[in-house]
Amino acid sequence: MSEGVETQLESLEYRTEVKQLLDILAHSLYTDREIFLRELISNASDALNRIQFEMLTNHDVVDPEAELAIYIEADSDARTITIRDTGIGMNRDELVENLGTIAHSGARAFLQNANQNQSALEEIIGQFGVGFYSVFMVAEEVTVISRSYRPHDRAALWRSTGDSRFSLGEADKQDRGTEIRIRLKEDAAEFAQPWRLETIVKRHSDYVSFPIYLKSKDGEPRVVNRRIALWRQPPSKVEPAEYEAFYKQLTFDDRPPLLHVHISADSPVNVRGILFVPAQRERSSLRLRPEYGLRLYSRKILIQEHNKELLPEYLRFVEGVVDSEDLPLNVSRETVQSNPLVRQLRKALTSRLLKELRSLADEQPEKYSTFWTEFGVFIKEGVASDYANREALLELLRFHSTRTGAEGWTTLQEYIERMQPDQKAIYYILGDSLKSAMRSPHLDYFRKHDIEVLFLTDFIDGYMVSQLREVHDRPLQNVDDPNLELPKVEEGAAESEVSAQAFDKLVARIKQVLGERVREVREGKTLVDSPARLVSPEDDFARELQYVRRVLEENYVAPAKILEINRRHPMIADLARLVDEEPNNALIDPAIEQLFDNLQLLEGVYQGSVADMVDRIHRLMRAALAGHS
Ligand code: ADP
Ligand code: MG
Repeated sequence: MSEGVETQLESLEYRTEVKQLLDILAHSLYTDREIFLRELISNASDALNRIQFEMLTNHDVVDPEAELAIYIEADSDARTITIRDTGIGMNRDELVENLGTIAHSGARAFLQNANQNQSALEEIIGQFGVGFYSVFMVAEEVTVISRSYRPHDRAALWRSTGDSRFSLGEADKQDRGTEIRIRLKEDAAEFAQPWRLETIVKRHSDYVSFPIYLKSKDGEPRVVNRRIALWRQPPSKVEPAEYEAFYKQLTFDDRPPLLHVHISADSPVNVRGILFVPAQRERSSLRLRPEYGLRLYSRKILIQEHNKELLPEYLRFVEGVVDSEDLPLNVSRETVQSNPLVRQLRKALTSRLLKELRSLADEQPEKYSTFWTEFGVFIKEGVASDYANREALLELLRFHSTRTGAEGWTTLQEYIERMQPDQKAIYYILGDSLKSAMRSPHLDYFRKHDIEVLFLTDFIDGYMVSQLREVHDRPLQNVDDPNLELPKVEEGAAESEVSAQAFDKLVARIKQVLGERVREVREGKTLVDSPARLVSPEDDFARELQYVRRVLEENYVAPAKILEINRRHPMIADLARLVDEEPNNALIDPAIEQLFDNLQLLEGVYQGSVADMVDRIHRLMRAALAGHS
């Protein structure tokens, strides 16, 4: 053990964000304070991974022969804990940089959230894992003494009591690595009990791959973690609870995963790995992990912490570990990308994962529906982008439809089996919510003839169908397409009481009122119960993308549509009569405006002013009420 002989210390001030974080930590009543140990061990393990990786190509380091390990010593009388590693170490500048600012992205996300909802702070500390600074939940004073692996770097000391400043100085540590000495707060004395530390290590750090030695004041050091590479065990030997514990320790996610896939194959490539689908999608700033990607090992040596090439991008929600003995150990992080082996691994991992998702869908539909709700959009992204796996991905798709309603789901296969004998296309309707899509006037015809229509209401759906275009030779068709070749002709439609002349006058009046806002006004022959609908002009090739564009582009204005009106609808008939008989009636123009706005609302493309609309509705209401008084 080294003693940091201290020379004069220099005092520095923390950055504002660190002060803020420390202030929260010092005053929090957080109950899971034990996670401080998980954070320090995880840092030690990172440091060991890094020196191990460095030594693959560089032997000019301090202590090249030192065992790669973590040592914890506790003294319950003195209320101290020391955590030491033989990792990559830090010089003075690195201490300032790493422990004087916020490096950990979890801590930054935590702070952002802290500013938003003060009340739930204590609950979310554990979720974010605030990194090194979490030690101040239990520590009165922390001293870090570190010696970098670089032979010419000098050892340095960092000390803080968790207030607004920290001190820096020299140290005479000879051996490589970092030592963290903690003087516990009075109310955190329990953490100096060796049995308590052992329990915490087992709960949060059992699968850390380096040995963690625990030593009490008078005892002998002994290894307390299992440090087995679970992914290298034969799948038949691993218990479900072990997968769960491994997942939690890998991701710091406290919910059990939805699915695990243990892969163990020797051909065409050697691969051992475990992939996990989390129980929930990480949303925006509540991300637990700074980056996505799988941990890539070669013979148990960590090559890359967040590899993004082992799975296609749309599977970025998958967590896990992959180890291949075929990967040369001297591979650098930069060349991993272009290594042909990685391409082979990606192919194998992707098809296996998709296969397992398919089995989940077949065998545990309830669980699959949870999966679908959380991750369906990623699968849709895959359908649009991964041509090689399209068939497998198509089987994973689920839709609500006019048949299933908002509760049930259908697959494409089931839809195809239910198609009408003379039906050639798969019909869908795009909308920005299920509620409005379900009430769309486009569905009149399809409801009447019992033809199923799929509801596509995810913002990525338009993009997906524009890439997909057909499924097993059946074209996908948008019900707002004006040129639909519909399987059944309209027969015996109720005759309209509106004369051709009155109807033409109405059409002319609507054109005059709406002007540029509509491309064309005409009779809609497929409408049944709805007074009108908006359809896309034939030459609007990008209409599938309008929902995506409205989300992505701030000033996006959808191109003008064709307005189709239902001559047989009583409201349209009344309006036509009014235009014919009393063209100066003050209700006509507001009624036309309102009809148009209603359709835009149903389509989810209304961009006008709500206040103006409310004014107008009030005027129409007054007229309606006056007519009845
Ligand atoms: P994170 O681990 O997410 O980067 P932390 O707050 O836990 O954030 O740690 C901050 C940084 O301090 C680390 O990125 C690392 O560079 C450095 N560090 C912390 N502990 C050690 C250690 N035991 N050995 C070497 N470097 C360390
Ligand atoms: Mg950390």
